[in-house]
Amino acid sequence: MPDNVLLERMTWPEVRKALDAGYTTAVFACGAIEQHGPHLPLFVDAEHGTRLAEEVARRLGKALVAPTIRVGCSEHHMAFPGTISLQRSTLESLCRDYCTSLARHGFLRICIISSHGGNMAPLADMLDRLRDAVGPQTQILAFCEIDDLIGTWKRVVGDACGLDDRVGGHADIAESSLMLILHPDLVHREEAVAGCLEPPTEALLERMFRDGLHSVAPNGILGDPRGMTVKIGQLCLDELADVLATFFRAESGARAADPES
Ligand SMILES: [Zn+2]
Repeated sequence: MPDNVLLERMTWPEVRKALDAGYTTAVFACGAIEQHGPHLPLFVDAEHGTRLAEEVARRLGKALVAPTIRVGCSEHHMAFPGTISLQRSTLESLCRDYCTSLARHGFLRICIISSHGGNMAPLADMLDRLRDAVGPQTQILAFCEIDDLIGTWKRVVGDACGLDDRVGGHADIAESSLMLILHPDLVHREEAVAGCLEPPTEALLERMFRDGLHSVAPNGILGDPRGMTVKIGQLCLDELADVLATFFRAESGARAADPES
């Protein structure tokens, strides 16, 4: 396995060599540039996405990481200054052009992850159209389960310190801990306060997507960031990467056996 698996840092002869050596899986993340409470920078999901994609690629083996789509569907965060939001059709166009480009170079499996909940429903909706666009020779797989993402963080934080009720899915103890590994200099611990502490039920998420996140959490936080640690961040990263790699292996096998599944 090469030290670097990030496509954008490679030369074209290196990419050709990798493809010839069987590196025919591409992983890429859909992130977001959106508010993450008063204590975290806007690029949490973009940076987390790139790191997560790299961890997933290393677990899958013979996989390269295509550039993260850093901006995502964040309409429900637009009440907060700085958030940039793509229309669903824009995200779909980007994903389609990524997938068709990668397929033309010979990638046979493309795994799309989202480090941002707001991209998941659009991804699930566009998946069949992406498959039609690339044709049958390249598998397109996408992880779109927001419940599995939040559930993984809850399990990890619960096991590590019993504070799983602080996982709300946005700028919470899990995401804040992740930023302690990725960009500790940009975490403003003194601004970390509790946000909306209602459990992240389907009803709450529906209200948030409909009326905006500010309607349920005026400070932009779902959950509570207090108690964040580097250790929790590392465990969240590792565990979610394990969950995603397992998901892609299973999906890939199932679709190879039955492409209509
Ligand atoms: Zn986030």
